[in-house]
Amino acid sequence: MSSRGAITVVGSINVDLLAQVRRHPRPGETLHGTGGTMLPGGKGANQAVAAARLGGDVRMVGAVGTDAQALVGLEGLRAAGVDLAGVREVDGPTGLAIVTVAEDGENSIVVIAGANDAVDAAQVASARDVLAASAIVVCQGEIPREGIEALPDLVTGRFLHNPAPVMELDPEVLRASDPLVVNEHEAALVLAQLAPAAAIPEAPEQIADALRAAGVASVVLTLGAQGSLVADADGLHRIPAAPVQAVDTTGAGDAFIGALAVGLARGEPLPAAARLASQVGAFAATGHGAQPSYPSAEDDLPPLAEVSA
Ligand code: ADP
Repeated sequence: MSSRGAITVVGSINVDLLAQVRRHPRPGETLHGTGGTMLPGGKGANQAVAAARLGGDVRMVGAVGTDAQALVGLEGLRAAGVDLAGVREVDGPTGLAIVTVAEDGENSIVVIAGANDAVDAAQVASARDVLAASAIVVCQGEIPREGIEALPDLVTGRFLHNPAPVMELDPEVLRASDPLVVNEHEAALVLAQLAPAAAIPEAPEQIADALRAAGVASVVLTLGAQGSLVADADGLHRIPAAPVQAVDTTGAGDAFIGALAVGLARGEPLPAAARLASQVGAFAATGHGAQPSYPSAEDDLPPLAEVSA
């Protein structure tokens, strides 16, 4: 416990507004729905909460608006004990995701970046001391490009980069990711940026290898219920999933990343941290919502399968 390093998450803080409908409305149509619940979300906040609940020493760098939603967006971070000194309040709305779920399970989502758009290079630079003192700096793709691109020069520990959603980035920023954490869809988009002329391989092993060959420091390729693949200087490591009865995988990927940060901050090698992450991602898939489904350090985690499917 005492040897753990600090984790700083630079990223989005959102409120998720949930609406359940029988079917999605057609353009111009008004329908009755149920729900209306507002939950704290945003990939950045989710990952910070996941890491803090597992006992990580976590700081958040981000922004919320001046509206009432800011309180909701920060609720989970506060409850998990995340240091919020790096979160500023800017004029305008807090980031908002309007999530409509139809009876057939199909989602449609409108995301309004709001205050997250203010997490620019200047704000990242103002967190310089916190970033330099962190063992792990985590970021995603829900803040402006300039904010992300300012990070590698300020990070002295590991740069855990989850480029989701994928945007056009300086290739050197993608290569500095150690690890780059992507699902198969994101991996193909990143590879297309790093090696535009190359064909995108089919097999996950070949995608992970191709990302390393394109210069990425290390890679974790997540494969849903199939677990994940780690590619680092020692080669390729297959990390099994923990078999569970999944009820809602919302935010499971973010739980995986928060746990990965905790393992790395304890000084574990990447494959060992990915095994913990696999257990935590599976745990999160067994509960509803994102942050409410994350385990604490006291929870029993589901064991990994011996051999992945
Ligand atoms: P994303 O949601 O970002 O696409 P994944 O679906 O790959 O990410 O999930 C991230 C990780 O969470 C997986 O690598 C796995 O470890 C865990 N996970 C996700 N869904 C399940 C599931 N149904 N059963 C077990 N583990 C899961």
